[in-house]
Amino acid sequence: MALIVHKYGGTSMGSTERIRNVARRVAKWHKAGHQMVVVPSAMSGETNRLLALAKELQPAQLGKAYGRELDMLAATGEQASSALLAIALQAEGIDAVSYAGWQVPIKTNDAYTKARIESIDDVRVRADLAAGKVVIVTGFQGVDPDGNITTLGRGGSDTSAVAVAAAMKAAECLIYTDVDGVYTTDPRVVPEAKRLERVSFEEMLEMASMGSKVLQIRSVEFAGKYKVPLRVLSSFTPWDIDLNEEASSGTLITFEEDEDMERAVVSGIAFNRDEAKVSVLGVPDKPGIAYQILGAVAAANVEVDVIIQNLSKDGKTDFSFTVHRNDFQKTLDLLKGQVLPALGAADVVGDNRICKVSIVGIGMRSHVGVASRMFKCLSDEGINIQMISTSEIKTSVVIDEKYMELAVRALHREFDLDQTADTISK
Ligand code: ASP
Ligand code: MG
Repeated sequence: MALIVHKYGGTSMGSTERIRNVARRVAKWHKAGHQMVVVPSAMSGETNRLLALAKELQPAQLGKAYGRELDMLAATGEQASSALLAIALQAEGIDAVSYAGWQVPIKTNDAYTKARIESIDDVRVRADLAAGKVVIVTGFQGVDPDGNITTLGRGGSDTSAVAVAAAMKAAECLIYTDVDGVYTTDPRVVPEAKRLERVSFEEMLEMASMGSKVLQIRSVEFAGKYKVPLRVLSSFTPWDIDLNEEASSGTLITFEEDEDMERAVVSGIAFNRDEAKVSVLGVPDKPGIAYQILGAVAAANVEVDVIIQNLSKDGKTDFSFTVHRNDFQKTLDLLKGQVLPALGAADVVGDNRICKVSIVGIGMRSHVGVASRMFKCLSDEGINIQMISTSEIKTSVVIDEKYMELAVRALHREFDLDQTADTISK
């Protein structure tokens, strides 16, 4: 018998029929003797629907007053789905109770619409579990020090589930979703992509931060910090499949780098089209330049990703970096308006038709030549690399967006990801 946390995404909770399926699945685990805490998302589309209603009345506002009401509103989605799940469990003859975030309580700071969890009180939930109940805790929400309802950012139910699992010291946190695990890359781009039976927490973090939308990134950070064993699996298997089979399906996010995992040099290919490139040309090459450019960008609240500065020639250099596409125009305007004249640079140019493609793998730590293999593969395809950045377990390149799919497919083949899923992940 173990304490297990299940999280169900919006699609899994999308209709009363699906909620009944979730209830039957949870009941199966409960009857097998496990203590069950369940964290659901709102029914699919509900959060969007609610937020759209608010925007009909008043477009997005920056102040706390508006953010507070958005959270008050959006949190109702999870309150409804949680109560429905409790009712569905009761219909299965299971003693079940649901709690909103503030009732647990899940305490957060007061950063409305993107609050951070500060602590979770487990007393109430533990008492219910001890009394044999299934406990349902709303995803996505908490309560600030003044008792206001907060939400954790879009996709935040993943983080709620992991945080509850950490606070309760659960044996495992199972994230049930509409895909059956984490793949070597997006199967819509590479049909040969394979499900990974295991992926290390660090690899998952890199993949999640690079546009692989399976888990909210903050939930992965949380799992890493508190060492919560995490599994991503499908909620579309029949609810009555064998429990042991279900318990070992999907992708396990592991912490030990076991031997099997080390055999794969690259575990996955991540990519995104969310960025744009900005270059400041003909900058005088003297101390403080990077700060003058990037300081101004940071002051405008724009996040910078890949950065390169060229060797200088005749005392001038070029300086390039990437920003989110949504910030592209703002960054160009800012540099042209303020920074360019102050710096005496020649020009500011940009390109928002780029993409970033990355190879990710903890095996890169212990193998040399992985990056050059990547570069050769891209060169064989005639793809020009515009920028490069590396970390211990990742190499990313910025290329023309029109070659993205070609690059991802070629790299997937180059690193044998079409075949090796079994060896990676025994
Ligand atoms: N319902 C929230 C959203 O749609 C939270 C979640 O589903 O994780 O973003
Ligand atoms: Mg989600």
